Amino acid sequence: MSQQEGARTRPEPISGLYLNPVGQRRLDFQQACGALFGKLRVAGGIEEAGAMLEAEAADVLVLDLERFEPGIDLPLLADLVARREGAPVLLLCPFTNARWLPSLMAHGPLHYVIGPLAPEQLREEVAARLHAGFAPAAPATPAEEELAALLGVRSDAQQALAEADDSIRFAERLCVALLGWPGVVHASMFQLREGKDLRLEAQSGQPAFLPGARGLDLTAVLGRGERLLQSPLRHAFPGLLAAAGGETALLDAPEKAGEAELAATLRGHGVEMVLGLPIPASGPGAPRGALCLMFGERRAFSQAQLAACDDLAQLAAFGLRMAELMRESEELLGRVTQLATLDALTGVANRRHGEFLMEQEIRRARRYRVPLALIAFDIDRFRNINDSFGHPVGDVVLRTVADTARLLLRSSDVLVRSGGEEFQVIAPHTSAIDGLKMAEKLRAAIEGTEMPGCDHVTISLGVAQLGETESGDSLAVRVNAALARAKRAGRNCVELAMQ
Ligand code: GH3
Ligand code: MG
Ligand code: MG
Repeated sequence: MSQQEGARTRPEPISGLYLNPVGQRRLDFQQACGALFGKLRVAGGIEEAGAMLEAEAADVLVLDLERFEPGIDLPLLADLVARREGAPVLLLCPFTNARWLPSLMAHGPLHYVIGPLAPEQLREEVAARLHAGFAPAAPATPAEEELAALLGVRSDAQQALAEADDSIRFAERLCVALLGWPGVVHASMFQLREGKDLRLEAQSGQPAFLPGARGLDLTAVLGRGERLLQSPLRHAFPGLLAAAGGETALLDAPEKAGEAELAATLRGHGVEMVLGLPIPASGPGAPRGALCLMFGERRAFSQAQLAACDDLAQLAAFGLRMAELMRESEELLGRVTQLATLDALTGVANRRHGEFLMEQEIRRARRYRVPLALIAFDIDRFRNINDSFGHPVGDVVLRTVADTARLLLRSSDVLVRSGGEEFQVIAPHTSAIDGLKMAEKLRAAIEGTEMPGCDHVTISLGVAQLGETESGDSLAVRVNAALARAKRAGRNCVELAMQ
């Protein structure tokens, strides 16, 4: 190692301690990098490494995180980082598990290299760090400027929460906000939806990267926008990795994911680095989705920057939870409205809602000067059905009558259960003559329909057309009088109301 760099260069020979639980990896590291150190010791366990350091300090500590589990090994590794007595620490971190970085950085400054790396790349990376004497990497942008930009991103992201009544609009606003981060050329959000798998919710690129002629469109890159958990790139693309596995994925060179086509596409769009951040769920279990940031240049992240990323992921989680609550409360409101307006047995409008709809249709008929007809019908000798076959069969008959009538009606007609076995049809744009035809069709249809459990039933009907100045109550009185006449006339027939 040259001495030109003065204080920044360590005196040779450098002693190193490499830690990884897999014997073959220790051998590989010794082979690839052993010559870079004056003395290289290897350890297979964290406690063993601790004991070795106690026996003899090392100039550099290389922690190869492959095969370690953050959930299990983090405390001991953190302890090792804290006890390294000034020796620089180099983390070899798999790109699929970058959550290690902020967790370990909290215990002291460290440097990292993202894997997987071929042996010669590994040697180059380690040699470069040893050569530079582990001086802090110069930030790509001045720290203050970046901090100001991050604060801006955060405030824009918070404003996106105003759109959180709709998850897609929120995602779109958040992605645009994320583009404010220096170096970010494309931002996207993935959301896991129950039963619908993982979906690309929104994406946004810097103007030069907008989806378009030569722009970056993730739907094209991933081959689809929906059911992304089944994508062949789910083990390679950081956004999918983060959403599927809940781990931060940091791909600091597109090739490291081992997918040549993906790497070529990303590089073709000027992407040098991709960060996938899981959006945490409110409880335990799979994440809610992921944020994915693409950078136009490779750079080292500081602990503060990674913490800012976590903040943004939390904010995204909050927004998506709000959107979900909003959707749930709308659904609930819809269900309550349904309960309040529909008859439970037949599913048609109940009497109260029928009266409301009648008033509405009367106003409409007056305003547009169009006819409005009301048909009332009642099942003939229904008491006999109940008496002969039982109440449950009576209920089935009521349902079948309602279903049969509903099938015959136009979408603008409203079927109402006005009482026990009495129904009404509110028929907009319908004159008395047309109402009579409609009533006759209903009568024939019910007569011709087989009723489960009791053969057949018939209905009697009254028809009335709304008079020019008539009220809903008066119309109802007239139509019921017509219905009563139909009963008196021998049932299974239609009567037109008197004016
Ligand atoms: P008609 O109308 O031809 O004069 O004779 P009807 O036997 O149909 O007349 P009535 O009004 O006396 O009888 C109506 C019967 O409808 C009495 C009641 O038990 C029955 N009913 C009302 N609501 C329901 C219901 O929800 N389910 C069942 N199964 N029966 C009901
Ligand atoms: Mg009856
Ligand atoms: Mg009746």
